[in-house]
Amino acid sequence: MTTARWTTGEVAVIGLGKSGSASCALLRRMGAQVYASDAAESEATRARAAEAAALGVAVDVGRHDLDRIARASVVVASPGVPPQAPPLAHARASGVEVIGEVELGLSALPGVPYIAITGTNGKSTVTALVAHLLRAIGHTAEAVGNIGTPVCEIALRAVKPAWLSLEMSSFQLHDTPSINPTVGVLTNLAPDHLDRYDSVEAYYADKALLFRHAGRGSRWVVNADDPASLEMTRDVNGVVARFSATGRLCDAFVDRAHDTLVVRDAPLVRRHELQLLGAHNSANALAAALAVMLAAPAHESLESAERIREALRTFRALSHRLEPVGEYRHVLWINDSKATNVASARVALESMTRPTVLLLGGRHKGEPYHSLIPVIAKHGYRVLAYGEAADIIMNDLMGHAPVERVTGSFADVMRRAHAVARPGDAVLLAPACSSYDMFNNYEERGRAFAESARGGPGA
Ligand code: ADP
Repeated sequence: MTTARWTTGEVAVIGLGKSGSASCALLRRMGAQVYASDAAESEATRARAAEAAALGVAVDVGRHDLDRIARASVVVASPGVPPQAPPLAHARASGVEVIGEVELGLSALPGVPYIAITGTNGKSTVTALVAHLLRAIGHTAEAVGNIGTPVCEIALRAVKPAWLSLEMSSFQLHDTPSINPTVGVLTNLAPDHLDRYDSVEAYYADKALLFRHAGRGSRWVVNADDPASLEMTRDVNGVVARFSATGRLCDAFVDRAHDTLVVRDAPLVRRHELQLLGAHNSANALAAALAVMLAAPAHESLESAERIREALRTFRALSHRLEPVGEYRHVLWINDSKATNVASARVALESMTRPTVLLLGGRHKGEPYHSLIPVIAKHGYRVLAYGEAADIIMNDLMGHAPVERVTGSFADVMRRAHAVARPGDAVLLAPACSSYDMFNNYEERGRAFAESARGGPGA
């Protein structure tokens, strides 16, 4: 492990969440001097600060010492801290390099190959699938990065896994200058995060950083059904393998005649054998299987193909991603709380096989909702608009789709959903917005939905 980069001067860690804590622990293990700070003063932050202090980290909670940060040799930013937040803006203005937790973690895992996954939607699903398939063919593998487990946490382990499946958000790509995966996957591109980026182009430019070290030996997996992804990778160096859920002849595709997922000439599973809803999940399965098979020649043996086949059959939807939470009083409730942008809400609607009541709303992220109109109107789905975004949703949909505004709390929204859903319907939470107007995160929103669905109108 080369530690010189971290042991010269003092390293400043911004944010004391899960990844900030793991960064502190790893840096101390490397012998670095560390200063860590977090603007929040919650109990959880205080507890993590105490743990870091016990390791010899100088800690500030409730404030950032900007002068100290400006003197740091390097700043390690937690993924939740926006680039324009004062400590990061100040560090940059002072000429201090800002890197992310993933950069630090990868530097401590030399020789561990990784498959990196980015894109607007489907990252976590593909990341989890890749880890699942790697394990099925006999490797130790961990799903890390944006999916939740910090890379630094893995680097701290005495026994390292043989492979990593690494989910990368655009923000993480921005701050991981050495990213150079064995295989890189781009799931798709659609507008998102316009609350944090000035333009779609700026957001896509960060996504393109996946390819920053592309060379002749690089291998990439790209969505052939998505023109923006094809455009981004048109001139990229290395082997570009493509997948298509719409049946285009590619390295991985759905053979319509036989309803079978085919990857690098190997028929893997029938579509109905996948326990995942929606055509987009065929795309996710194709992307994951293609990436794993491309990653090493042994992954394409007959035995590996058989194991991949079996593993695809046993994989279940991650929580909060088109997750059926139950059927109560003849209404099916589907939690897609992770549908935090318009594109993911659209694919959720396209996956519905019943008359549907859509819960749409939350904190607006900057994208218009018009592109949902065709699928809502075609099937006569009903929309309940709620939360901070309700006015904008009403404005975009009214006159084009059956939409009703629900004021009040999320419990009020659920009460209305119970009232309007008829036997045989589905109620779909695919809000196309972030949850922060009413909840701490999308998981909390999904749990509130599931509890109320179970509990009935009075819950
Ligand atoms: P990410 O990690 O990129 O946010 P997830 O796998 O967590 O992706 O899924 C996020 C949301 O996007 C969920 O609502 C899910 O149903 C939807 N989704 C999953 N895969 C795709 C895809 N390939 N295309 C579009 N939407 C998708």
